[in-house]
Amino acid sequence: MADVSLKHIYKVYPNGTKAVNDFNMEIADKEFIVFVGPSGCGKSTTLRMIAGLEDISAGELKIGDTIVNDMEPKDRDIAMVFQNYALYPHMTVYENIAFGLRLRKLPKDEIHKKVVEAAEILGITEYLNKKPKEMSGGQRQRVALGRAIVREPKVMLLDEPLSNLDAKLRTQMRAEISKLHSKLNTTFIYVTHDQVEAMTMGTRIVVMKDGFVQQIDTPKNLYNYPANKFVAGFIGTPQMNFFEATLNKEGENVIIKFEYSNAQITVPYSMLYKAKPAYLDGKTKVYIGLRAEDISLLPEDIKNSKAVVKVKVSHKEELGSETLVYGDINMDGDGYAESSTRVIIKDYSGRDLKSGDIIDASLNIENIHLFDYENEQCVLPRIPEYNYLDCEIKNGKLCFAGCEIDLPEALKCNDLKGDLLLPTDALTLNGNLKAEVVSHESINGINLLALNMNGHRFYAVNLQYSEAGKTLNSSINIGIDFKKITVISDGKTVIAPLSELNKLNCKFVKRKEYEEVNVNGKIKRKKAIRFGFDVAGKFFQASEDMSQKIFAALGIKKAFTTPLNLECGIYDLAISDSGIPAKAEGYLDFGSERFLKCDVDGSEVYVKIDGEASDNIYLQPNFENVGVLDIEREIKII
Ligand code: ADP
Repeated sequence: MADVSLKHIYKVYPNGTKAVNDFNMEIADKEFIVFVGPSGCGKSTTLRMIAGLEDISAGELKIGDTIVNDMEPKDRDIAMVFQNYALYPHMTVYENIAFGLRLRKLPKDEIHKKVVEAAEILGITEYLNKKPKEMSGGQRQRVALGRAIVREPKVMLLDEPLSNLDAKLRTQMRAEISKLHSKLNTTFIYVTHDQVEAMTMGTRIVVMKDGFVQQIDTPKNLYNYPANKFVAGFIGTPQMNFFEATLNKEGENVIIKFEYSNAQITVPYSMLYKAKPAYLDGKTKVYIGLRAEDISLLPEDIKNSKAVVKVKVSHKEELGSETLVYGDINMDGDGYAESSTRVIIKDYSGRDLKSGDIIDASLNIENIHLFDYENEQCVLPRIPEYNYLDCEIKNGKLCFAGCEIDLPEALKCNDLKGDLLLPTDALTLNGNLKAEVVSHESINGINLLALNMNGHRFYAVNLQYSEAGKTLNSSINIGIDFKKITVISDGKTVIAPLSELNKLNCKFVKRKEYEEVNVNGKIKRKKAIRFGFDVAGKFFQASEDMSQKIFAALGIKKAFTTPLNLECGIYDLAISDSGIPAKAEGYLDFGSERFLKCDVDGSEVYVKIDGEASDNIYLQPNFENVGVLDIEREIKII
């Protein structure tokens, strides 16, 4: 029983393959986590790093409270089950299960008790005296599970354990492994390429592609709120329908025009409030995603819907309780090949449809997904990142959404008209803009508030609204954290957000130092080797933990030659009597906060400041919170 924590985990194989990139996850005790993705996406490598069968190139891995990066597999208190069972053919089932316990020299009667218990849990008691070759694939996998569970590991790792079994047995074993998980009350981490396996077993699923985590969420959230087109297409059968389309906002409606088809529907803008306005210009292409069950052929749905398109039926698959109807929204399309007009409909109407029939289908726009045509990221997010608004800057005031607010000194600029990008986390409760709370929801621990200001919709995350003791439809005062906003005018960024992360070039170095020690009353000089960071000529001693991480990620030789970045937040760099020499270059006054822009060896950095500073100053990083980046390989080491 243990939590597992993966922080900035990377795996670079000696041949340069970057198999896992910046894997971050906190796995709670007793969770059933599934890593899923197509072959080669890095799921087994991640599992093997947790098991200790593969070195971790960079990052920190914890099982329980212990950092296990350098711990031998046998000491990690984990058990692993593989696809190919790996049973000893010459031993009986009993001996196979008992083998690991014997190696650990457990008393005989204790071993016996554990083996019998495990066999009972797995329903293989009657096979205990048989040899593996006398058993079916499913039974052998049960023995492999038995061998793992008798070890009572803190974490069970399972790598495609069911891939060798036939479809029926896989379904049965899936249920059995889920049952086993609830019985054992242990953290399970399970690797599979099969999304159905992932969806039916995982309490949370990690979807991976090309070494990158695409999304981590519950099966339901992955299905309903995929973060990108890959996840949307990977999760769910039949695959989500994707159509290329443009969206044009006209007043309070949005016209959706499907490419390569005459299909066109009009939907209320309120359904697309969270979409970035740039996607509603009638020109920018997007992918529309709709699941097969969100397209209906039921007469009452078609009658009540404003989003109806014509579909030419090509063929169907009878699945018993439902029928999958294949067709095309392009009347010349064939409905067989995967295309951006092919449509799959889960039909419950029982209609007798023939190839070539042209029928009406209603689209459930409430469940529509929108993805960027180029990068395929979701652009109708559950939690929007920005509010996009028209704005004007006039006489030092920022005017938007029918209100105006003084710009702080740092952002004063000439009069202009443009677009304001107001991050949803840049709204504060200390200001004098009046907004009305329309709704609030909690999504994965993040509070999302919908606000109305003079008829304009805003979203705010993590505004401590409930603490403010307000109720729905009440009016609240909001302010803006100006250092986070962006203003774009005529295609140029006029106001850019202040980067909250300073990056300083540095090197990892070794220093010889002499310290005076008292040996029997005599003061002697003793040599000591210290490791640390050289930032603009100033040495900062690294903690042992930091040095270990650097050596683990870079190796002894490269540790001292690799160019590094010291990453330090704007609140984690302070002016001090000694430290990194810097030149003060000017103040940025945001009203409630002031920052000093400084130059460190050609790099621009910002520090928070209350008073005044002289031209030549020294900066002291807070080493508790700094990060260290291998610039060339783009690996976060600390
Ligand atoms: P998955 O389990 O998702 O199928 P893996 O974790 O096995 O993927 O592999 C991820 C990537 O790392 C793949 O591109 C694979 O070719 C590569 N890889 C795996 N093992 C090695 C190795 N020992 N040396 C070099 N590359 C490897």
